[in-house]
Amino acid sequence: MATAAPLLTIKELNKSYGDLHVLKNVALDVHAGEVVSIIGASGSGKSTFLRCLNVMEMPQSGFMNFDEFSFDFRDGARAQPTDEQLRLLRARIGMVFQSYNLWPHMTVLENVIEAPLRVKKMSRKLAIELAESLLSRVGLYEKRHQYPARLSGGQQQRVAIARALAMKPQLMLFDEVTSALDPELVGEVLALMASLAEEGMTMLLVTHEIAFAREVSSRVVFFDQGVMAEDGPPQSVLHNPESPRLRQFLSRIL
Ligand code: ADP
Ligand code: MG
Repeated sequence: MATAAPLLTIKELNKSYGDLHVLKNVALDVHAGEVVSIIGASGSGKSTFLRCLNVMEMPQSGFMNFDEFSFDFRDGARAQPTDEQLRLLRARIGMVFQSYNLWPHMTVLENVIEAPLRVKKMSRKLAIELAESLLSRVGLYEKRHQYPARLSGGQQQRVAIARALAMKPQLMLFDEVTSALDPELVGEVLALMASLAEEGMTMLLVTHEIAFAREVSSRVVFFDQGVMAEDGPPQSVLHNPESPRLRQFLSRIL
């Protein structure tokens, strides 16, 4: 496994909003089965980076390989992603956000079958079977006919995760998925993510839950003002940080 090519490779990625240079020559490799946690101060570019990975944001420059996809984001480059490639790519990279964004007018089950039906053109019967098994997996089978508003924040976030898993993604991106939850609901969502990690799901997650990052991550990456300042095993990055800015960041949140 150590010799296999990475599932995802990012090189020299740059993203600006107007004059604001948010991501500065970011590089990252993620191998299948790895869990990479991204930490860093608010505004350091973590969310922007995740949004660039499924190309919800178009970087100004950089290279990306994901499985058989190979993109060059430079203006006018021949390997700029086509709309069709982006559609295929996004079906294979699941994303869950801080605000769970379930469709309020659909039941839990309808939320989960929507993308398999529409994007994958799966039959309704198969989509329902898949959704039911995923809802069992996240402990919410009994809630399948409820509307999201009737669920707690932690339950809604678990539905959002089931919805993303319904596309059978090769990579899952989690952006501070527990930050909006009441403290007593954080644990159930982290436990679900930990079990996904244990099953071998490849995951990239932005989190402020340092204890969780230490426990589940293969690697921890520190973003500092748009620069990937540290990248290493949790023990070294979290317990033996090289940069004074990471030491300072950790002392503020621990
Ligand atoms: P983080 O997730 O680490 O808190 P973000 O990636 O959300 O950071 O934001 C990084 C910087 O980019 C911030 O200064 C933010 O204000 C800016 N930014 C993010 N999205 C946009 C946008 N759509 N337009 C303009 N500026 C943005
Ligand atoms: Mg963010």
